Amino acid sequence: DRVLIGNKVSEGHVNFIIAYNMLTGIRVAVSRCSGIMKPLTSSDFSFTKKLAFDYHGNELTPSSQYAFKFKDYAPEVFRELRAMFGLDPADYLVSLTSKYILSELHSPGKSGSFFYYSRDYRYIIKTIHHSEHLHLRKHLNDYYKHVKENPDTLLCQFYGLHRIKMPMSFQNKIKHRKIYFIVMNNLFPPHLEMHATYDLKGSTWGRLTKVDLQKLKNDSNYKPVLKDLNWIDEHQHISLGPIKRQKFLEQLRKDVKLLAKLNTMDYSLLIGIHDIRKASRDSAISGNVSDEESGQEAASNSGREHRIDLNTNKPNSVVSHYFKEYEGGFRASDKDNKDLNIIYYVGIIDCLTNYSIIKKLETFWRGLGHDLKVVSAIPPRDYADRFYKFIESSTDASPQKQYKDNPNVRK
Ligand code: ATP
Ligand code: CA
Ligand code: CA
Repeated sequence: DRVLIGNKVSEGHVNFIIAYNMLTGIRVAVSRCSGIMKPLTSSDFSFTKKLAFDYHGNELTPSSQYAFKFKDYAPEVFRELRAMFGLDPADYLVSLTSKYILSELHSPGKSGSFFYYSRDYRYIIKTIHHSEHLHLRKHLNDYYKHVKENPDTLLCQFYGLHRIKMPMSFQNKIKHRKIYFIVMNNLFPPHLEMHATYDLKGSTWGRLTKVDLQKLKNDSNYKPVLKDLNWIDEHQHISLGPIKRQKFLEQLRKDVKLLAKLNTMDYSLLIGIHDIRKASRDSAISGNVSDEESGQEAASNSGREHRIDLNTNKPNSVVSHYFKEYEGGFRASDKDNKDLNIIYYVGIIDCLTNYSIIKKLETFWRGLGHDLKVVSAIPPRDYADRFYKFIESSTDASPQKQYKDNPNVRK
């Protein structure tokens, strides 16, 4: 399965040019929209801007090593979304473009998407399908309103939607290929190790990650993302006392309700678990500074960020996100609402799949005589209900799990 620490993408790498062009496009497009923010109008949501890059450059675009076209979707809307999520415009640019080296995630998922991390691991670029890009554009207004009304939303944070078009050779012919991609938050903080990661859908069909125990022992980069059946087999749960549990489930319910309304399915709750005690035990063994000490500074940046004043573009207050307040995540708690030594990093990811598209694919596969173990489309409301119920039933204030005994977790 997918591994979380990626390969460096550097010159000579097959995807280097694609990544280089993506970053060049973002850098120029984002720095172009830096004027005073005006209240958004409906045309901002459908607005697109094209830029053409080549070796010579022109008055709009600087010279670029490779020739390609860049398309920016609803730049003003995403600019405001970034501000609502507490991103500083200058930081954003630095993270994404300081150096043309990104990390690429191993073995992309079934969808064939590619993932790239920014150098500081704060952002992820994901290539998406044309239909996913359509889905996001179509519902951008609802998404924007939802984020505005729900500052603690668990939904994936979208920071930009773009397209590059570039010549690529295919079967000895040069074709112009369009690649759509989004920029989003990395749910996991760069400075802390995740002791377990789960991708949960609330379904059990094919939802087991086979863990290679040998590899787990020998390869420190091997961190399998576990799924629903692993979660169930391990009697895993999210320990939350009544206060946090209520807050968490309330937000989850609202987020999932929106996804059902937007005809979305196939999304997951991604959960990263950091065990504070295990981390300090490990660092005591290796002689490093304790996790908590070294994490302090980075944490103050990841959880509470600066809200940008829409009139002056200057940070004016601090954005706090209920589920990102402690080291960029939130603490587990017991039945008396007392904090436990576990930090959760939780978000709803992969939420751009339109039900009708899946439905069509399914019909297509059925037509080809495949059995439907691969995909199983269920209507968005049913998907949402099943998803919500699964998470709800996994959330309680039972004693926390001990990570030292978990065979699926790297020692
Ligand atoms: P498929 O459609 O086959 O499920 P996909 O290509 O659409 O795959 P995602 O489901 O979006 O990919 O993500 C795959 C994995 O990448 C997740 O299980 C998770 O491990 C990692 N991942 C995705 N989004 C994020 C994120 N925002 N932060 C951290 N990790 C992420
Ligand atoms: Ca997925
Ligand atoms: Ca997907």
